[in-house]
Amino acid sequence: MQTHQYEAVIIGAGGAGLMAALYASRHVKTAVISKLYPTRSHTGTAQGGIGAALGNLEEDRPEWHAFDTVKGGDYLSDQDAALVLAEEAVSAVIELEHLGLPFDRTSEGRISQRRFGGHTSGFGGSPVRRACHAADRTGHMILQTLYQQCIKNDVMFFDEYHVIDLIRSGDTVVGVVAININDGKLHVFHSKAVLFATGGWGKVWEITSNAHTLTGDGNAITYRRGVPMQDMEFFQFHPTGIYKMGILITEGVRGEGGVLINDRGERFMERYAPSIKDLASRDVVSRAIYLELEAGRGIKGRRYVHLDVTPETVNRYLAEAGEDRRIDAEYIETRLPDILDFCRTYLGVDPVKEPMPVQPTAHYGMGGIPTDLDGRAVIDGSRTPLPGLYAAGECACVSVHGANRLGTNSLTDLIVFGRRSGKHMAEYCQGADFVPLPDNPAGEVEAELQRICTASGSRKPYEIRAEMQQIMMKHVGVFRTASGMQEALDTVRRLQEQFKTDLVIDDRGQRFNTDLLEAWELGCLLDIAEVTAASALARQESRGAHSRDDFPKRDDEKWMVHTLAYPTDDGGIRLDHNKPVDMSLAEKDERFKAKERVY
Ligand SMILES: Cc1cc2nc3c(=O)[nH]c(=O)nc-3n(C[C@H](O)[C@H](O)[C@H](O)COP(=O)(O)OP(=O)(O)OC[C@H]3O[C@@H](n4cnc5c(N)ncnc54)[C@H](O)[C@@H]3O)c2cc1C
Repeated sequence: MQTHQYEAVIIGAGGAGLMAALYASRHVKTAVISKLYPTRSHTGTAQGGIGAALGNLEEDRPEWHAFDTVKGGDYLSDQDAALVLAEEAVSAVIELEHLGLPFDRTSEGRISQRRFGGHTSGFGGSPVRRACHAADRTGHMILQTLYQQCIKNDVMFFDEYHVIDLIRSGDTVVGVVAININDGKLHVFHSKAVLFATGGWGKVWEITSNAHTLTGDGNAITYRRGVPMQDMEFFQFHPTGIYKMGILITEGVRGEGGVLINDRGERFMERYAPSIKDLASRDVVSRAIYLELEAGRGIKGRRYVHLDVTPETVNRYLAEAGEDRRIDAEYIETRLPDILDFCRTYLGVDPVKEPMPVQPTAHYGMGGIPTDLDGRAVIDGSRTPLPGLYAAGECACVSVHGANRLGTNSLTDLIVFGRRSGKHMAEYCQGADFVPLPDNPAGEVEAELQRICTASGSRKPYEIRAEMQQIMMKHVGVFRTASGMQEALDTVRRLQEQFKTDLVIDDRGQRFNTDLLEAWELGCLLDIAEVTAASALARQESRGAHSRDDFPKRDDEKWMVHTLAYPTDDGGIRLDHNKPVDMSLAEKDERFKAKERVY
């Protein structure tokens, strides 16, 4: 077994990991470990934009951005975090520009901005142009820009190394164990600090916008080593995934004027969100689509509605709204080239001429590893840090997105909190010594891999995965009830048992054994599904992405608190509801107090 020593070890090479690496590596010896080649990280698929109140096309202010974030989060966002996000977004985007990111430009040469759901001017007024974008490939550009900067700054990359365990020595985090995918050998990384930036876990659900690799590894690894998971009941369904496939159609389509239409030809969002209609927050739009489908108003009675961005339709509604702007086919071709390409390739539908069939798709985890504003993982309601552990990006929960994230705020989160984490981590490492590794640090996980490799049961990982994805889609999706969630929880626990006692895989070799690693990832997905269902079942209210038929109202009296889920020694889950929501903006400004959300 090879042991490496780096002061800072970062797991994940998406936007959050690379931004943290860029900052940490300026001061301490830093390694990035990634199971994917860095530029294949999911950040590269982000389409629509990164939110920052630059005010390039019309007046905008960070306080408005913070307000929208808190309101969008259905008042579960920590307000100190929302303010940091909104204020530091401006310098973060300008930093990306200076690092070489080729943003689209206005005619004056400034960064171009477009509208996105839930982003408004003047504390909840009309939609504002806040999303900075590079066509519909914003994430791709972020990833390429940061990766080349990391290479330039001599960050050490371990590509296609799969991290499978966290090493703790008492109360301190001292490193990780990884497997080199190429030859199956285990490596121990000894460090002063570890940062998880492993992204999301959308693969828990059947219809998802997420890549195959988004299996919540970092969350499962830290949870198994005693770190709580915060607010896992809040998982966002994006309203517009391609029917049956889940592939994302960016909200930027609606930002450019696209509208949702049901089988009767109605622009139904006029009924659900009279003021900002198709640009209401994602939880609101997903629920509206779902209700239309339930009422039999899906197109031809099927389970999808139309997303229409044809110039004819868009111009009709622009005229109706009294706007001067009109669009043509060329405009759509330049603003949304990748979306057009997906639809033409995968659907045989040309969005310039005809509408796209869409349905809600599992998209984004608001919850995750709880952290403070500097990315330090915290383990209780009083924000006590666990020495040496950091998290940033989608796997972390600052909590800035509360119960529902606004579009474009994830990319902002990666850059703002990735930067803060990298800075803090460097300072921490400079003042800390290496704590010795425990004996045989890879022993436990090695035994687990051995077990999976030689198991001789009857259930293939893909069968267990499909069953988990279906039950989670059905019962822990857009709408939820106690009996449905209980059924999902029972099923997931039965599947966990099968995973332990009745598994079998085909490939028992060493080299590039993706069969083994996918089985190991399934173990992570099952643990995350269990925590999600248990956290959801306990929260007896509807808030943001967590919408219950049996508790349809938000209950601020009882439930304006974060959920913390801890693993217990007997393999169960302990839920704690004592972590208050930070309301520091509301204490100074009435407008930030929790109210009913109207869009
Ligand atoms: C299709 C799509 C479109 C989106 N569009 C937008 C948008 O327009 N605007 C916006 O704000 N947000 C958008 N989002 C959300 C946003 O892109 C993601 O939340 C964000 O990119 C996550 O970044 P990250 O750095 O946390 O992780 P990721 O970019 O997902 O990267 C995760 C990294 O962790 C590594 N990793 C994971 N597990 C392991 C392991 N066990 N061992 C080693 N390495 C590991 C992977 O190799 C990878 O490098 C979109 C998401 C999707 C799916």
